[in-house]
Amino acid sequence: MFKKNYDSTGVVMMQYRKLIKNSEDLSVLGYGCMRLPTKNGRIDEKKAEEQLLYAFNQGVNYYDTAYPYHSGKSEVMLGKFIKNNKIRDKIYIADKLPAFLVNKPEQIQSFFNTQLKRLDTHYIDYYLMHMLDSLKSWEKLKEFGILEFIEEKKRSGQIRHIGFSFHGRPEEFIKILEDYDWEFCQIQFNYLDEYNQAGLAGLKRADELGIGVVVMEPLRGGNLAAKAPEKVKAKFAEYEEQRSPAYWALRWIWNHKEVGVVLSGMNVDEHIKENIEVANITIANSMSDDEIAIVNEVKEIYKSLMKVPCTGCNYCMPCPFGVDIPGIFSEYNNKYFFGGQMARIQYIGREIGIFGAGKSAANLCTQCGKCEKHCPQSIHIREELKDAHKVLDNRLMRYGLSVVARFMGPRREK
Ligand code: SF4
Ligand code: SF4
Repeated sequence: MFKKNYDSTGVVMMQYRKLIKNSEDLSVLGYGCMRLPTKNGRIDEKKAEEQLLYAFNQGVNYYDTAYPYHSGKSEVMLGKFIKNNKIRDKIYIADKLPAFLVNKPEQIQSFFNTQLKRLDTHYIDYYLMHMLDSLKSWEKLKEFGILEFIEEKKRSGQIRHIGFSFHGRPEEFIKILEDYDWEFCQIQFNYLDEYNQAGLAGLKRADELGIGVVVMEPLRGGNLAAKAPEKVKAKFAEYEEQRSPAYWALRWIWNHKEVGVVLSGMNVDEHIKENIEVANITIANSMSDDEIAIVNEVKEIYKSLMKVPCTGCNYCMPCPFGVDIPGIFSEYNNKYFFGGQMARIQYIGREIGIFGAGKSAANLCTQCGKCEKHCPQSIHIREELKDAHKVLDNRLMRYGLSVVARFMGPRREK
């Protein structure tokens, strides 16, 4: 059933899977427009256009965006890219209703209108309820008339397929999945999240129900790729063929036949190339026992090193008191992944307010708890921030860095 795809000259090409029975073929690699390249704090449109076009020319036909990505500019960029290249009929747009911002029924239509306008299109191919985390969040939308909205939009052709993206507990995922006649869903799935959130059980249940699955966070915000710790790299290097950690992580996901599209938020040329290469050659159920054994050993290494399971999704942000929660957790994990003093120096830079970010360390936390309500990983953010501060702060180093900063130039404070 799963075969590689070759062109007439024998070159291996992008593979396609159906997300929805009797529907179009989608490239197994989807372009996540959440992390487009930036310059001076804005999307670098020239670079983004080049990268999106490169992927398109390599067979990628599924492009995922959302209302809040790049503060609304991701949708605009995708719309421009499609128009510039006159390819609306050749690609599939996935976009999402910001369910967490909907407080009144009329906002549903209003968000949708804005999205069509930003994308400069008359219809959205794959429309998702963004970030449902419990049956309650879906029920809130139903009270606001989402079912009638969906029915009307599908009838008019403005929405072609309907789904939801999920971050939450496994049991809530199943409840939402079984509550409506969904066509597809989007879940976080990678070799470290086999039993987190929707997880493998959710993937299998969706498949049983005939609901297509799009995978997000395949590399866990880069933690399974370039940021992989040396111990992990060394373990992978034991395998006969040398492959990057990203290659292994993606290969593991596509090995699951239930997976439709895997989204990757790409903005580095080499990563795009590599992701396409793995997408072209990995067919489902093709990993050998030796390969699976290596991945299982790597999982154990990560578990032993990671302090906080933060994916850097940013849903907890902004903190009203300026704490850069994902940034701090990244430094906290980095301290254990990579050792050395770099993570500590970066953290102390936050405390003092240098390195361009202003003050953003954990000691600004007032324990208000706002962030924890939004964390899809159910991280006890307040407690973890306290621990991170204990590990990363260092009085002597703080003093030394303050002195250096004074000589280097004016301190930047918020
Ligand atoms: S609990 Fe702390 S980190 Fe979270 S939002 Fe409140 S002040 Fe910010
Ligand atoms: S703490 Fe939670 S919400 Fe915030 S970035 Fe990490 S995983 Fe996302």
